[in-house]
Amino acid sequence: MNNNELWAQILSRIESSVSTMIYNIYFKDTTLLNIDNNNTLIIQVKSDFIKNHLQNHFDDLISEKIKEISRKDYLYELVTSPPEVEIPKKKEEDNEIISQLPLEFKETVENNPVINVVDEVFPDYNDNLNPNYTFDNFVVGKQNSIAVTCAKAVADNPGTLYNPLFLYGKSGLGKTHLMHAIGNEIKKKWNKRVLYISSKQFKEDYQEIFSNRETNKTLLAAFKKKYYDIDVLIIDDIQFLSSAEKTQEELHNTFEAFKPFQKQIIISSDTSPDDLQKFEDRLKTRFAWGMSVQISPPDFDLKVEILRNKMAGHETANRIKPEVLEYIASNSQSDVRHLEGIINRLYVMIMMYQPEVVDLEFAQKYLADDIADNKYSDNSIEKIKKAVADYYNVTVDTLKSKKRKAEINKARQIAIYLCTMNTDETVERIGLSFNRDHATVIHAREKITEDLKNSEQIRQEIKEIKDKI
Ligand code: ADP
Ligand code: MG
Repeated sequence: MNNNELWAQILSRIESSVSTMIYNIYFKDTTLLNIDNNNTLIIQVKSDFIKNHLQNHFDDLISEKIKEISRKDYLYELVTSPPEVEIPKKKEEDNEIISQLPLEFKETVENNPVINVVDEVFPDYNDNLNPNYTFDNFVVGKQNSIAVTCAKAVADNPGTLYNPLFLYGKSGLGKTHLMHAIGNEIKKKWNKRVLYISSKQFKEDYQEIFSNRETNKTLLAAFKKKYYDIDVLIIDDIQFLSSAEKTQEELHNTFEAFKPFQKQIIISSDTSPDDLQKFEDRLKTRFAWGMSVQISPPDFDLKVEILRNKMAGHETANRIKPEVLEYIASNSQSDVRHLEGIINRLYVMIMMYQPEVVDLEFAQKYLADDIADNKYSDNSIEKIKKAVADYYNVTVDTLKSKKRKAEINKARQIAIYLCTMNTDETVERIGLSFNRDHATVIHAREKITEDLKNSEQIRQEIKEIKDKI
């Protein structure tokens, strides 16, 4: 084992004993120069500050790890870089940040070249934006149109119109997508510095400061640099800061720091600001200051539209019959992430079985498991019949009878439709159970599919029946 290998092994032990931030600041850029007189490791570090800090705080750790790996009683000595290696100067930006810091931190930071280390802790500014999440590929419908309008308004007027913008709704409904879309748009239009961050990351970054009392001033400076030096701050899933009092306080400080500069804040959450649990009241009030807007689960129409949109352009698109989208839309959960999962599954099945057309039978056969959460139990034809009969106040026998009165006919068609959409049964078997042939079943399915597009009333009735099954 040469010196480099030996030191790399020791470092990797150290790395697993300290936080990433600490490791990056103090240990990452150290080198084992040589082993002196065969018993002292000469380790080069970048600055006196780092050297002193390591000696004062990590002496035991370093000795212990050296021993663990080398199995010898080596001593060690820290030396700073040879003079020709220039210690980087503070950058303009750093000075600017320092000038904004409260007095008590200023001194520490100014007197320590370690502020340069800030760039290593939070290397190259990265906005974390996903360029694939845009407004263009976000499908708009009744349940999200207000959110989209507000999101676009913020992208057009960052920092001035709705500040903060607070988006809330259940998981999988497009909050994260929309927030990235705003960020991407602002970057493109306004050339502003945007930072997207999960609230968990915000919390972790902040907790670093508190878990390291000795270094917290430096770390606080690093934290502030990361968060204050931007124009648009996007924090996702704020509900995870519930009970995190210190982090909440720092979030409040960040808001305060942003205020005079009209910097934009965008937040998402699974509940409205009012319903956030274990949050400081002043923060909740702050959240609700600008604009709070909810995204609701997509209804049948929006689901079909999203499916159509996501499938368009795929090589198999022209093989997939519209009824397949309707089948997926009426059976899947109201969660777009779930829809995406089903689409991917469908593609895999198409690839495996290479059907010429992808019709309802194919989808039912191969997607059943993915839709299983919503699938009815074995005896589902009977259950559906019973639920429909109850809903329309007729008997199951009437549904199976030859009676052709309009209301009975409608109830029967809805029952047949639900059986085709929500069970694995073939049209023949469904037909048999209603004393009809398969053509009647197909006709009923098409009729109700058509009605669903045109009638809010039918949509509502079917929804209520489904809730009862
Ligand atoms: P949330 O953050 O609300 O949990 P996401 O933004 O992560 O939801 O959305 C989950 C997935 O669904 C993402 O891949 C997203 O692109 C997609 N998605 C959600 N809503 C829409 C929509 N209206 N149009 C297109 N894709 C959407
Ligand atoms: Mg999200």
